[in-house]
Amino acid sequence: MVTIPPQPWPTGLAETVEPLVRRVLAPNPSPYTFTGTQTYVVGMADGPDCAVIDPGPAEAAHIDAIVAAVAGRTILAIMCTHTHRDHSPAAAPLAALTGAPIVGCAPLMLQVAGPRSDEAFDPTYAPDRVLADGEGMRGTGWTLTAVATPGHTSNHLCFALEESGALFTGDHVMGWSTSVVIPPDGDMGDYMASLEKLMAREDRVYHSAHGAAIEKPRQLVRGMIGHRRQREAQILRLLGESPRPVSGFIPEMYKGLDPRLIGAAEMSVTAHLLDLEKRGAAAHDGAVWRVA
Ligand SMILES: [Zn+2]
Repeated sequence: MVTIPPQPWPTGLAETVEPLVRRVLAPNPSPYTFTGTQTYVVGMADGPDCAVIDPGPAEAAHIDAIVAAVAGRTILAIMCTHTHRDHSPAAAPLAALTGAPIVGCAPLMLQVAGPRSDEAFDPTYAPDRVLADGEGMRGTGWTLTAVATPGHTSNHLCFALEESGALFTGDHVMGWSTSVVIPPDGDMGDYMASLEKLMAREDRVYHSAHGAAIEKPRQLVRGMIGHRRQREAQILRLLGESPRPVSGFIPEMYKGLDPRLIGAAEMSVTAHLLDLEKRGAAAHDGAVWRVA
């Protein structure tokens, strides 16, 4: 189980996590966000400009805290890793307030995205510029490069801070929990490939949207890959015992689960089953899954 650090959490304060990076915690704690969304302000403390990563929920107190952390610098880009509602809604009001452009992940809106979307998405997100893998933004003393990491969502990007070797991992790899992969937009096969992609990099530290900085990133990612393979093996074993609906996997796979997270656990099992189906290892008759 997750250990929640003691309150009060440092909501609204600009914490310096490394010379080029300030972190501001939004006041939106929940079973899905841990202590809340962490917004990052990237740039030299005494420089003329900066970028804001994952501005978070559109709450006035949080937007005020971001503006305070920016401390008079010009925001060259408001950058979102993805468009879940705890990450991108403050982009539009912050852009309106400061004139900064919104640069980063592609939009993915309920109204236009068809089946690859869900109610957790922010329909207001409208970027001025979408970054492809390897594209980036540069300011005074900082360079941020997009690393495409689909899986948690189809539009997920990480951002690499070239000057320090830090990677802003959004919800792809987090400091408190493994990522939820919610179909149809979330894709387990893509997620695993995006974890392997990080294994091939040599980032020094990860700053994620939720939870503490990750100081041994490859060790954590290796563990996450192993965890998912273990989950997949469990699912195949249970399928081998008897066909069952998604809910029939939960009691054995998630012992002692917070009841508020059962829905998320079922989504994760579904994501594995869809991936296994794609690979020809599982099939379903209606809601009942079986070995293919
Ligand atoms: Zn998310």
